[in-house]
Amino acid sequence: MICQCANPRCGREFRYLHEGHIFVLEPELPFTWHEGQTSIDHYEVRRYWLCDDCARRMTLRRQSDGSVRLMPRPVGDTLRVKAA
Ligand SMILES: [Zn+2]
Repeated sequence: MICQCANPRCGREFRYLHEGHIFVLEPELPFTWHEGQTSIDHYEVRRYWLCDDCARRMTLRRQSDGSVRLMPRPVGDTLRVKAA
């Protein structure tokens, strides 16, 4: 459950889906779920939220070690916002 902005220097409280930007990131490695003789590789999806102010300047990227890193938004990478 998302509670606050993923930027630790911000901490703005998550309230509405239409504010900011939600990132849906899967872990690099799955965990295996065993049920009887069946094994299923399962990817646990994680959701992160950046508030409007942080999402304009930053983005989140999955790193090769599986961690999530807050990074500056690349030049020319504009945030796509849905029209109301
Ligand atoms: Zn923020």
